[in-house]
Amino acid sequence: PAMLGILGGGQLGRMFVTAAKRMGYRVTVLDPDANAPAAEFADVHLCAPFDDAAALKTLADSCAAVTTEFENVNADAMRQLAKTTRVSPSGDCVAIAQDRIAEKSWVRKAGLPTAPYLALEQAADLAGDLADYLPGILKTARLGYDGKGQVRVKTADEAREAFASLGGQACVLEKMLDLKLEVSAIVTRVSTAQVAVFPVAENIHKDGILDESIVPARIAPELAARAQQYAMQLAEALDYVGVLAVEFFVLGDDSLVVNEIAPRPHNSGHYTIDACATDQYQQQVRAMCGLLPGKTDLLSPIVMVNLLGDVWGEDGGEPNWSVLMEAPNTQLHLYGKKQARVGRKMGHYCVLAAGVDDALEQARALKDTL
Ligand code: ATP
Ligand code: MG
Ligand code: MG
Repeated sequence: PAMLGILGGGQLGRMFVTAAKRMGYRVTVLDPDANAPAAEFADVHLCAPFDDAAALKTLADSCAAVTTEFENVNADAMRQLAKTTRVSPSGDCVAIAQDRIAEKSWVRKAGLPTAPYLALEQAADLAGDLADYLPGILKTARLGYDGKGQVRVKTADEAREAFASLGGQACVLEKMLDLKLEVSAIVTRVSTAQVAVFPVAENIHKDGILDESIVPARIAPELAARAQQYAMQLAEALDYVGVLAVEFFVLGDDSLVVNEIAPRPHNSGHYTIDACATDQYQQQVRAMCGLLPGKTDLLSPIVMVNLLGDVWGEDGGEPNWSVLMEAPNTQLHLYGKKQARVGRKMGHYCVLAAGVDDALEQARALKDTL
């Protein structure tokens, strides 16, 4: 069987490995962490930095195709790999997704709306009139996730202080919008004619971290269709190959604003494993191999709940899963991480029910039992 390679061995990589192996592939994971969640399921674990020349050569020589589960890989390493093996998404697309300034300008170039924002390369860029962006959020252009690297600011002085507090690195100052809801759409694109989009998820965040995804999203079908359309439009504009996640804000007038993109499967798409004809990790395998995307039909309403280290004991002890495991319509997914920390994603569970309100009610009741 063909060997597939993946840069990154976190939980997304672990679920990718599971999907790929079920489909008959072998998998090599590159991740510097000896305890990477994907490593224990992989056929080969290259335990090395992401830009390690020898490890990249092994990947290029041994893998029929390479992908990533993590946007902060070295885009140049991906471009290098692409000289001798199939790489998707492209290093160019990953480079766009890892920089909020490039990302937002690409979203606009594709004809889609973003929040009003100001790109900041240096302190002097904050010298002008900031009224259009305040109150706002200052976000580092690179490396932020789960709300890290973000400061909420009310005044121009606060914005300048916050920029300095982030070390003067490139940032965006983004206007704080009044959000009605947040949703995401995940698209798989192999070519212009070969595109499939998953049902839209409604996402509820807690402290900047995804807490719940509710599918189908509780929005008008027309609005959901528009989010899917936007995601496909963006993938087309980027000539994207692979799985692309697009996060949206829904405003009071039901207009959609693109928040950010991820060049990979997404936390809000974990539900596809338990509720879709094809899941987002199988789509990643298909796309990287140049195969047709599978059907994305939703087989049941579903609610996903993230399990953070917060519900593990002080001593690292696991929560008591018994009530959750005894619920026949519930699926538990643990990532095998050795260390539980506050805010760290340790696993998730999904609740399937005949109706989405019912699934949500049951999912929330289960939280209280952990
Ligand atoms: P992720 O873990 O999804 O990569 P991140 O750290 O890149 O997150 P964002 O998605 O930019 O962060 O923001 C995190 C959350 O903060 C959003 O999902 C939203 O709830 C809130 N938020 C971000 N930007 C805005 C905005 N302009 N107006 C209102 N709320 C916002
Ligand atoms: Mg992000
Ligand atoms: Mg986000």
